[in-house]
Parts: sequence; structure tokens; C-alpha cells
Amino acid sequence: MKILMLDVYPQVNYRVCKDNNGGFGTGNDLGDTFVSKILKSYLKKSVDFPPLFFVSVMGQLRGNGNEIKYSREISDEKFDLCVLASSIVAHETELAAVSKLKDLGIPTLVVGPFATSVPEPYIKNGGKVVIGEPEFYFFDFKLNKSEIQNLPDKIVFNHFFSLDDLYYPAWDLIFQYKKPKFNLLSKGYTIPIQATRGCPYSCSYYCTYPLQQGKKLRTRNTDEVLKEMLFWEKKLSVRNFQFRDPVFTINRKYTNELCDKIINSNHKFNLVAEFHLKDVDYELALKLKKAGLKIAFVGIESSSSEVLLNAKRTTIANDQQAKKISLLEKVGIKVKAMYIFGLPNDDQTTIINTINYALKLNTFFAQFSVFTPYPGTPAYNDYKDKLNNNNYEKYNQWNLVFKHKNLSSKEIRKFLGVAYSKYYTNLKWFLKHNIKLLT
Ligand code: SF4
Repeated sequence: MKILMLDVYPQVNYRVCKDNNGGFGTGNDLGDTFVSKILKSYLKKSVDFPPLFFVSVMGQLRGNGNEIKYSREISDEKFDLCVLASSIVAHETELAAVSKLKDLGIPTLVVGPFATSVPEPYIKNGGKVVIGEPEFYFFDFKLNKSEIQNLPDKIVFNHFFSLDDLYYPAWDLIFQYKKPKFNLLSKGYTIPIQATRGCPYSCSYYCTYPLQQGKKLRTRNTDEVLKEMLFWEKKLSVRNFQFRDPVFTINRKYTNELCDKIINSNHKFNLVAEFHLKDVDYELALKLKKAGLKIAFVGIESSSSEVLLNAKRTTIANDQQAKKISLLEKVGIKVKAMYIFGLPNDDQTTIINTINYALKLNTFFAQFSVFTPYPGTPAYNDYKDKLNNNNYEKYNQWNLVFKHKNLSSKEIRKFLGVAYSKYYTNLKWFLKHNIKLLT
């Protein structure tokens, strides 16, 4: 079967990524000040990769003998089937594509965490939605065109197996289209990879990761993870990997084992991963560094313990956070600290305090985003009657989309601008990180 793998994006002046945010996607619309605009433009040029779940589906479909083509637009070329990558950040653009495919007579199967949580609009526009982790569904996909047409609108399946049994994501086919990049890590090409899925932590109140991956931790065999890294190094000369695990260090024994295998392979990789500061000590920081970790993403969210508690975010005390960040920096790992404005109990004072706290931590990267009650999360149930924006593409993690008890959308945008401007023009930031020019 000839299959179009369609991954469409809205035309906006900021980077849109369908992989981040548990596969719902984000759009780096960082604010409206001069500094925000420079950063937006830099990120749009420097970071681009399709969602891992989608490239994994491509791998399964190729593995079972289909001819597939990745594209970000619909052309005149004829296809037997289209598989479309869903997201919240490109939602309206995706719906328009589904309608167009229907007019062209091409059956469309929509995949991904967002369509799994919100399937109805895609179905209404003529698509069918694969509910759940799509790579498991497509692993042994053998249907012909008429069987596809007879599928129910919501395709629910129950054949799950080990992550190690899946074919590799088809990164080589993505390379034929556009090479993925993550220039914050390295100017070379960077491939997303995953060692574990699932996250049991309580911040699932507002976080989208567990929606599709679940709360139970599932791990790949560490030999298999290394084997995949070596495979892409040999086939595509890629040495940069972005681990897309929800919490890379969630199982210390597993993380140590994976790092040891990478270290003992004597291959030099550059890695980026996200994890919890509470997991970090000097021994682990050193091990991660030796394995090639260059950048650690860590969630701080807010400086206020009361705001965090109310949002069901468990973390460590602020002085402990500072110590753990110092540990990572001491061994040579750059830290990207992530903060959220507009959490349910935030007000002007807590946001100003969070900005000042960020300036104090003074990590290499800082990201300030906006609390968003995503469909499917418990937070959505609490806020669905207060939503004031019907356009899902605006749910990009940088807009306040509900009526907040203490803050307006305008105030939040202003705080974003202030935060980015203050942070990235701070003399202490330039001095500590020896910044000359962000190129
Ligand atoms: S730790 Fe919290 S924010 Fe991070 S992936 Fe798990 S639930 Fe989401």
C-alpha cells in the first residue's frame, strides 16, 4: 500500500512542535517584547523535528512492507491511505487537511495523543482515529483499502507488547525530507529517542504525558537502546540524541545501567534529557555527564511551595533545587529550568517571585510558559467551564486560555515578555555562562 504520512503545521512566526508536551505539542510563542521575538525567531530556525510517535508509526508501516512518504503538505500525488499526525497546536490546520483528503477520496487515519483525547473533531471532518499508542496498532497492519473504509470511526485495539519488539522509527526517511535539528545541543543533526515511557507522578493533574503513555513505567532493554543509537550513528552519522522519556532518571538502577552501557561502548554521544532535580546527586550527575549528557531539562514551575502544592506538583525545597542545579553545572551539564505562569493559585506577586527566583538560579536556559488545562487531564475538568478560547491552536502553552481568578491573559503575556527580557539581558547570566552571542 502507498501511504502518505501527513504532518501539517500552521503558518506562524514561532516554532511549533508536535512532539513536546506529551505529544499534544507546543508553540514557542514566548511573548511580545523585543527579546521574546528574537528568541522566537532563533528557536524557529534552530529546532525542528517531527513527533517521535509519528516517525515510529512510519517505522512500523515500512517494517510490514508498505511504501510510505512523509510530507508537510498535500500534493497531487496519489495515495491509498493517509496517516495524519494530530496535535493541539496544529489542530485547526489538521482538520482542514482531513477535510481536503476526504474530498480527494483518500481515507485518513489520525494518530497521536491529542486525537486519542479529542477524537470527535477529526471524525466529524471525515477521518478515523486510532486510539492509544499508534505504533502498536500499525506494527502488523495488513488491511487493504476497502477494509480500512470499513473500520469504525474510533479504532480501539488491545494488542500491546514490549517496546523492544517495535521496528525503529523511520528517521532515515525523515532525513530524505528534512534533517531534524536541535541546535541548542549541537549543530549536527539530532534524533529523538526513547528509553522509557510512563510517569506515575501526581503532576499528571495538569500534565499530558501520562494520558497516552500511562502512569506505569515501561522500559526498553538498555542493550536495545544503545543498539539503536549505534544504528543511527552508523546509518546517518548521528551522534546527538534527545531522550524523550517523561522523566529520564525515574528509575535510578535503569538510568545507571543505560549510562554504563553508553560509556562502555566508547562512542561519544551528545545527549539531552529531562528529569527531576530530586533524583540528582553528584554520583548520578557525573555518570550522566560521562554518558554524554550536555543539557538537562528540569521543571521548577514556581518558586511558591503553596502554588505548587495546589497544582499537585511535588518537588524539593528551593534551596535544595539550587544545590542540585549547582551539582549538574559543576560536572559540566547545562541546565534548562522550566517555569510556569498562571498556575491556579498564582497572582502577580508569585509570578514576580518566580521571575526573581529564576534570575537567582541563573541556569543556562530558562523557559517561562503558561499553565494550560489540557483536554483529558484532571485540570481540564476543573476549568472546562472557564475556558475563554475555542481555538485549540492557541493552546500552545504560551497563552492563558481560561478565566484565571487572579490574572488576565494580557497580564500573563506581559509577564512572559518581562521574564524573557530580564532573563536574557541579565549581566549575571552573560558572565556566569560566558555568553558572547546567541547564534
Ligand atoms: S513528572 Fe509530572 S510533569 Fe513530568 S512527565 Fe511526570 S506527570 Fe508530567
